[in-house]
Amino acid sequence: ALPLSAADPQIDGLLARELARQRGTLEMTARENFAPTAILEAQGSVLTNKHTEGYPGRRHQGGCEVVDEIEAIAVQRARDLFGAEHANVQPHSGAQANAAALAALLEPGDTVLGLELAHGGHLTHGTRVNFSGRQYNAVAYHVDSRTHWVDMDEVAELAKAHRPKVIIAGWSAYTRHLDFAAFRIIADAVGARLLVDMAYFAGLVAAGLHPSPVRYADIVTATTHKTLGGARGGLILSRAELAAQVDAAVFPGTQGGALNQVVAAKAVTFKLASGVPFAMRQRRAVDGAGIIAERLARADVFHAGARLLTGGTDVHLVLLDLRAYGAADGGTPLHGLAAEERLHRIGISVDRNVVPFDPRPPSVTSGVRIGTAALASRGFAATSFVAVADIIAEALLPGYDEHRERDLRERVAALVAEHPLYA
Ligand code: PLP
Repeated sequence: ALPLSAADPQIDGLLARELARQRGTLEMTARENFAPTAILEAQGSVLTNKHTEGYPGRRHQGGCEVVDEIEAIAVQRARDLFGAEHANVQPHSGAQANAAALAALLEPGDTVLGLELAHGGHLTHGTRVNFSGRQYNAVAYHVDSRTHWVDMDEVAELAKAHRPKVIIAGWSAYTRHLDFAAFRIIADAVGARLLVDMAYFAGLVAAGLHPSPVRYADIVTATTHKTLGGARGGLILSRAELAAQVDAAVFPGTQGGALNQVVAAKAVTFKLASGVPFAMRQRRAVDGAGIIAERLARADVFHAGARLLTGGTDVHLVLLDLRAYGAADGGTPLHGLAAEERLHRIGISVDRNVVPFDPRPPSVTSGVRIGTAALASRGFAATSFVAVADIIAEALLPGYDEHRERDLRERVAALVAEHPLYA
């Protein structure tokens, strides 16, 4: 019965350091968020001890009466939240959810059409280094080279030419709503199933701030920890007719026992996501991204050549394109890695990001992906997002030096202090 501090002071110390880092940093990597303490509690609960295989009422072991109830609640809440006919709450992660969704719909060697990784897609949408590109015949669609919006004409052409069995709509780095109805029409025209991966925007869908893919897609996958801001894991929603296939693809298809502590935390996640404070938080996140996009577009970083991919944003993130930075006036170029490092040094966490048609390698990149969901969870609203936008703009200006760095670090520290985390 030793507490962590006594059982393992080294890890306990590192957890304390991580909490301090989270408190002292403006977290703007688009995939992160802060789970409420109720969710942390469920995720750290005695359910860690409980092993289950199978589904409520159909388990492969005894002593499941309590976990069965918990999983049934999680499933019902997920269905209610998204208006879905079927939900599977067992995927350990977003990647596991996609592995199971594809396994439910495809045989090895079948063709799948997904958004190119370098154009905003995800590894699990058909890249060569991932199971999705190794196991299936993956074909990629792209964004338009001028507008950077998904090229739906190309999606239709590729669907006609390659006759995929599954078309995947979804993204990790894209700032516009996808046209799910158009994807459905294209899928129907070639007899393909439509899989929508809403890992990034599930929270916006739950809050009614983003069109829902549920009535268009055969299967929808999600993560519960990005904009949903809850348990770290995956989720699959589907039509009733695919329920048995989806469940079998998760267990025994691609996973063993469920992480019951996470399933409980997902139940709490869905409950919280159906409330008004959650919707207001998503609103602040989307508004915050709009503020950042607008302030950056008016700032001098644009004179230096920075641009916003797609020209703006409809979601909780902004994609800065630095390919032309410094080019117009013969100034010094700025790449994604250098921008990420500059922001890191003043206490802002962002991801460098490959932009479509990026001339630089993925370790360097010509882009930055900036997300607002975590700051919205921390209570940020318009005024604070204006302050953050101006800090980012000044950090990315030419002529950056130590003097400016000190000033920006102080301004970040003040914002952090104004918005306490896990107080
Ligand atoms: N799908 C998309 C679109 C993602 O962006 C991600 C992760 O960033 C995943 C799936 C995978 O989620 P996880 O990291 O939980 O496996």
